[in-house]
Amino acid sequence: GELAHEKDVVIIGGGPGGYHAAIRAAQLGKKVTLIEKKELGGVCLNEGCIPSKVFTAAASRLNLFKDSHEMGIGDSLPNFDYQKLRSYQKKVIAQLQNGVKALIQANKIELLNGTGYFLSENRIGVEIEEHYEVLQFNQAIIATGSLPSKSLGIQPNGKTIFHSGMIPQISEIPKHLIVYGVNEIALEMGMAFQAFGSEVTILLEKEEFGYDSSIEKEIKRILKKKKIQVLRNVQLINAHSSNEELLVELNIQEEKISLNATHLLLLIPRIPNIKELGIEKIGVTLTDTGYIHVNKQCQTMVPTIYAIGDVTEGPALAVKAITQGKVAAEAIAGKHPEYDANYIPKIVHFQPPIASVGLTEEGARVEGIPVKVGKFPLASNGFATLLGKKDGFVKVISHLENETILGVHMMGEGAIEMISSGILSLEMVAREEDIKFPFYPHPSMNEGILEAMDSLNSEAIHLP
Ligand code: FAD
Repeated sequence: GELAHEKDVVIIGGGPGGYHAAIRAAQLGKKVTLIEKKELGGVCLNEGCIPSKVFTAAASRLNLFKDSHEMGIGDSLPNFDYQKLRSYQKKVIAQLQNGVKALIQANKIELLNGTGYFLSENRIGVEIEEHYEVLQFNQAIIATGSLPSKSLGIQPNGKTIFHSGMIPQISEIPKHLIVYGVNEIALEMGMAFQAFGSEVTILLEKEEFGYDSSIEKEIKRILKKKKIQVLRNVQLINAHSSNEELLVELNIQEEKISLNATHLLLLIPRIPNIKELGIEKIGVTLTDTGYIHVNKQCQTMVPTIYAIGDVTEGPALAVKAITQGKVAAEAIAGKHPEYDANYIPKIVHFQPPIASVGLTEEGARVEGIPVKVGKFPLASNGFATLLGKKDGFVKVISHLENETILGVHMMGEGAIEMISSGILSLEMVAREEDIKFPFYPHPSMNEGILEAMDSLNSEAIHLP
C-alpha cells in the first residue's frame, strides 16, 4: 500500500475536546498530530458557546444600564449598535483562535489542516486540499463533535431560518424572533434578543424547561416580566419563508396554529459527526442511540482508539468534551484517570444567571432519598440589595441523616461563578458543617450559599 508516516498520537478534530486532549498528551511527553478541517476551537469557539455568550454579555450590560437609574446612571437609554457587537464577536473569536494556535505551537503539536478518516485500525488518511497522506498511529482520538440534525425537514437558509451553528450569522436584529429547541440556548438567545429590541417567542416542546421547580417558577415570572412569550407543549410542524415573511406552523395539543415572525432559530438536538469517519469497518462500536461507545477512560472497543466530546453519549457540552479530552490523553500516557459525569454543572447565561449541580428536590423524591431542603432568597442578601439584583435564590439539598450535600441550585447575579463551590462540595462529599465552617466574604452574593446552608436547619440569620 501507500507509504505511511509514522505518528504517535493522532487526534481528529480540533474543537475543545480535541485541543485539550492534544495539549495534555503533549504535556505528558507524547508526540501529537492534530487534524482539523476547519478552525481550531470547533463549534464551541466558532459557532456556539463563545459567540452566544458575546450576545448574552452585551444583553446583560444593556439590562444593567436600564436597571441603574436609581444609582443616578443612565437617565437616557444607551445607544446600541448591533453591527458593532458582531464585529466585536468576530474579534473575540479571532483572539481566542490565535490563543489556541499559539498553545498548539508552544506544545510542539503538529497541526494538519485537513479531513481525516480511518483506513484501518492503525491508519488514518488525511485529505489536505489536493494532497493526501496516510498516517500510521499508536493511538488515535476521535473528537469530531456534532452537527445540527435535519430531522424536522425545515431548511435553514441563513437569512430568516437559522440552526444552532448559525448564531453569528444572524445579521440584523430580528423584529420577531421565534426560538425552538434546546432549552438553555433558547433561554439565552431569547433573553439576549429581547434586550436588543426583538419581540421574542420561545417554543417549548414540553410543559417545562426541565430545571429544579424553584428555578422553573422564577424563569416563568421573569420571562413574563420581560414580555417574552412562551408557548408550551409545542410540536413544530413546518416553516415557510418568502421575502420578508416567515410563517411558522405548529401544533399545540392537537390544535394547529400559525405564527408570523421574521426569524426562526432552530436549536434542535445535534447528532454525532461520525458518518464519514469509516469507524464501522474497524470495530469501533456505537451505542443504541448512535454515539461512539466508550468506557470510563474514553476508550472505544478498539483499545488504541479513544473518543471524546459530542461524539460520545451524555450532554453535548464543551465542559464534557474538555474533561474527556484530558482523561483520554492521560489514559494514553499510562495514567489511570476516570471520566465521571455525576457532577456536570448545568448553566444558563440567563438574566439572572442560572447554575445547578447534583440532585434536585424532585430527583430526591423520585429516587426516594430522604433530604432536607434549604432555600435562601437573594432579596434577603445585603449585597444583592445594594446592587439592585434581588431576583433569585440559592437552594441546597442535603441528606436528611448524614447531612452530605447532594445538590446546589442557584439563580442570581454571579451564580455561574459561584456554582464552583457547589461542585467542589459535591465532589468532595462535603457535609453541612464543612460548608458552614469557612468565612464568606462580606458583602457578597456568596453569603447566600452560607445562608441557604443555615436554612437547612432553620438557622439563616436573614430569614424571618
Ligand atoms: P466540536 O466543537 O464540534 O469540534 C469538532 C471539530 O472537529 C470541528 O472543529 C470540526 O471542524 C472538526 N472535524 C470534524 N470532522 C473532522 C474530520 N473528519 N477531519 C478533521 N476535522 C474534523 N457547551 C458548553 O459547555 N457551554 C455552553 O455555553 C455552550 N453553548 C453552546 C451554544 C451553542 C449555540 C451551541 C451550538 C453549542 C453550545 N455548547 C456549549 C456545546 C459545545 O459547543 C459542544 O459541546 C462542543 O463544541 C463539543 O466539543 P467537541 O470537541 O466534541 O466537538
